[in-house]
Amino acid sequence: MTTDVLQIELRKAERSRIQEVDFNNLPFGKHFSDHMFVADFIDGEWTSQMIVPFDNFTLSPALSSLHYGQSIFEGMKAFKNEAGEVRLFRPYENFKRMNESAKRMCMATLTEDVFMGGLEALLRVDADWVPSSPESSLYVRPYMFATDTYLGVAPSKTYRFCIFTCPVGAYYSKPPKLKIETEYIRSAPGGVGFAKCAGNYAGSMYPTLLAQQQGYDQLIWTDAREHKYIEESGTMNIMFVIDGKLVTPATSDSILKGVTRDSLLQIARSMGIEVEERLVSIDEVLTGIESGRLTEAFGAGTAVGASPYALIGYNGKDYMLPEYGPTDSVAVKLRDQMNAIRTGQVEDTFGWVH
Ligand code: PMP
Repeated sequence: MTTDVLQIELRKAERSRIQEVDFNNLPFGKHFSDHMFVADFIDGEWTSQMIVPFDNFTLSPALSSLHYGQSIFEGMKAFKNEAGEVRLFRPYENFKRMNESAKRMCMATLTEDVFMGGLEALLRVDADWVPSSPESSLYVRPYMFATDTYLGVAPSKTYRFCIFTCPVGAYYSKPPKLKIETEYIRSAPGGVGFAKCAGNYAGSMYPTLLAQQQGYDQLIWTDAREHKYIEESGTMNIMFVIDGKLVTPATSDSILKGVTRDSLLQIARSMGIEVEERLVSIDEVLTGIESGRLTEAFGAGTAVGASPYALIGYNGKDYMLPEYGPTDSVAVKLRDQMNAIRTGQVEDTFGWVH
C-alpha cells in the first residue's frame, strides 16, 4: 500500500522543533517529533485522516476510554541505514497485533491503508527525526482510544487512532534485578494479557513498586492459577539459556506475542541454536541457576532489544546469574544480529525491513 492513494490532509508545523533536541542525549519517550497522524472512526469508517503538528487534544470529561478503558497501543522502531533510508522493523506485525488487541477490547479494527498509510506518510514528513547514529532510533507509538461521550459500560461507537514518534537513544542500563512475583498477577487465562491494552500496564505498577521498595528493578510474572510457571518479565517477554538451548515460555492468552521475541527466536534458529517454546517452571529456573545449567536470563522487547538480568529473587533469596563480557552472551549475540538487520549492516534474509 502506498500513501499516494490515501486522502491524508497535511498541515505542517510552522517551525520545526528539531534544533531544540540534543540527538546525542535522547532519554526514552521525552522528545516528540514535529507531527502526528490522526484518524477518527465515525459511522463505521475511518475518516478525516490528517498529519498535523504534535499538539494537545481537546477531550470531553465524559470520554468513555477515560472511564472504561477501551485504549490500546503499539510500539515499534524505525532506523536509518548508511544511505539515509528510513527502515521500519516488522511494522505489519504491529498492525496485526493492534487489531488483535482491538478485537479483544471490542474496539474498531484498523484497515491496512490507515495503519500502514498513516505510518509511512508520517515517517516521510518527519524523516529528519529518525536518528542515524548507531543504536539510536525513532520509537513509533500507534494507539487508539474510545471517543464516545457517554457514561455507560458499552463499546464506544467512535474511536481515535493516532501515531506519534520519539527519537530515542541507546538504552544502557545496569543488568536489572528481577523478583519472581507470586502474589499479584499481570494477566490470567481468559483475560487480556495477550492484548496491548492500557489497563494491563496500570495494573502492573503497584506490584512493581512493591518490588522496587524491596530493592528489585522489575518483576517476573507467573501464571495466575498456581504461580508455578514463568510468563513474562516487566513489560518484556523472557528468555533463558539452559544447557545451551534458548528456552522461552510458549505464548498463550496471558502472554503478549512480542515481535522481538519472535525475531530473536528466528535469528537463533538461523544461527543453529536450539530453541524451545514451552512451560518454564520457577523450579527449573532456580535449580538451573544453582546447578550452572541455566547460564542466562534476559528480557526481549522493542525498547531494549535483549536485556540480560543480573539476578532473580524468589521468596527472599537471590539467585545470581553469571556475569558476561560485553559480547560473549547469547542475548547480546542475538540482539546485535537483530540490530544489524534493522540498521542494514547485514542482509535482511528474513524480509523484515519495510
Ligand atoms: N510483553 C509486554 C507486556 C509488552 O508490553 C511488550 C512490549 N513492550 C513485550 C512483551 C515485548 O513486545 P515487543 O517485542 O513486540 O516489543
